[in-house]
Amino acid sequence: MPVGLFQMSRFLQVVPVAEAVRVVVKIAPAMAAETVPVEWSAGRVLAAPVSADTDIPGFDRSVVDGYAVRSSDTTGAGDAVPALLPSVGRVAMGTNDRKIIVRAGVCAYLPTGGVLPEGADAVVMVEYAEEAGDTILIKRPVAYGENVLLRDEDFKKGERVFLPGRRLTPQDAGVLAACGCAAVPVAKKPVIGIISTGNELVPVTALPGPGQVRDANASMLASWLSEYGCIPRLYGIVKDEREAFEAVIASALPECDLILLSGGSSKDDRDMTAGVIAEKGEVLVHGIAIAPGKPTIIGRVANKPVFGLPGHPASAFVVLIAIVRPILDTMLGLKKSLLRTVKGTLAENIPSQRGREEYVRVRVENGIVTPLFGKSGLLNTLVKSDGLICIPAGYEGLEKGSEAEVILW
Ligand code: AMP
Ligand code: MG
Repeated sequence: MPVGLFQMSRFLQVVPVAEAVRVVVKIAPAMAAETVPVEWSAGRVLAAPVSADTDIPGFDRSVVDGYAVRSSDTTGAGDAVPALLPSVGRVAMGTNDRKIIVRAGVCAYLPTGGVLPEGADAVVMVEYAEEAGDTILIKRPVAYGENVLLRDEDFKKGERVFLPGRRLTPQDAGVLAACGCAAVPVAKKPVIGIISTGNELVPVTALPGPGQVRDANASMLASWLSEYGCIPRLYGIVKDEREAFEAVIASALPECDLILLSGGSSKDDRDMTAGVIAEKGEVLVHGIAIAPGKPTIIGRVANKPVFGLPGHPASAFVVLIAIVRPILDTMLGLKKSLLRTVKGTLAENIPSQRGREEYVRVRVENGIVTPLFGKSGLLNTLVKSDGLICIPAGYEGLEKGSEAEVILW
C-alpha cells in the first residue's frame, strides 16, 4: 500500500497482529556480536556456538566420600559379614597419585571428587564402611561403576555445548566456565530510544498541575526493556508539535537501534506522528487489530524501526509485549521467546470483539484465572494483575471454566 494512503485515509487500516509481527521481524536490524566475561554473561543471548575444550570431567572421579574398591570384592558384604579390605592409602584432592593402586582385595580412601585410583571400579560410601586399624570393614556391596563419574560423562572434548540464540542462565555461565569459555560471544544489547509525547505530560519529578499527568510510560518501557536485555535511552517529553517531534527523532536516530514513541493515539496527533515518519522514511503499518493498542504505528526511518505506541500505559505495555517483543527477539537472535506462561481455568466469561486480538489483564491464583476488568485509562490493573491472556481474533470470547494460557508479567 502506498505510504500516502495512511495520511489520506480518515480511518486506520488495521492489519492482523500476525501481519504486524511479520512486518517487524522483516525490518529487524541484526545486532552485531561482542564478547563479555563469562561471569557477566547471564541474561545475554549467545551469538556463536560454544564447545567443550576438554573432557568434563577430565578423569574418573568419585561422587561420594568413601573407599575405592573393586566391586567384585564387595559381593555379599553385609553388616553381619563385612568384606575386610586393607587400606592402601588416601587419595588427596587435586592430584593424581599414581602410587595408590587398588588391586584385588584392597581399598583406598577417596574423597568426593577425587581421582579414582588405578584398579578400582566403584566407591563404597563411608557410611557403609568402618575403620578397624588399617583394615576397612565394608558392609554393603557396590556395583561396577557405582558412585563414580566417568571421564567425559558430562561433556566430551569438542562437543557442542550451546548453540547460538540461547539466552544464557547463571547455570549456563557455570558450564561455560567449565568449558574454558572465559570470553563469551553474545549479541550486543540493542539501544532503544524512548520518547514520550503529549502536551499534558510532565516529568516524574514535577507535581502535575491541572490537566497534566506524569510521564509513566518512559519509566515503564525503560524498565521492561532493560530487563529484557536492551539498553533504554530516554529522550524525555516532547510536545505534540511537528518541529519538536522532528528534532527529537533526528537526534535519537543516530544513537539508537530502534525508537519507541508513546502517545499520539488521537486522530490529529497520530496523523502528525505518521506524517513525520512517512516524510523521513516509511510507515509500514498504521493500525493493528489488537485491543488495547489499535492505533499503533510501525515505520522505519534511516533503516531503523520506529514504533508509535498508544499513550495509555496499559495499551503501550500490551503493544510492547505483543508487537515490540518479537522484533527484539529477532534483533537479539533469540531462538526461543522469553515469555513465561502458565495455564489456568477461567473464573468468568470474558467477552471479546471478533476480528481483533484482545489482551485482558488477569490475576492467577492456584490455577484460577480471574480477569480484571476496569476502565481502560486506569493504571492500577497493571500492577494488580499477574499477566495477560490473549483472546484470538476469531473468538467472541472465552468461556468460564475453559483453560486459558496466561502470559506472566
Ligand atoms: P495519546 O495516545 O497521546 O492519545 O494518549 C492516550 C492517553 O494516555 C492520554 O490519557 C494520555 O494522557 C496518556 N498518556 C500518554 N502518554 C503518556 C505517558 N507517557 N505516561 C502516562 N500517560 C500517558
Ligand atoms: Mg498524546
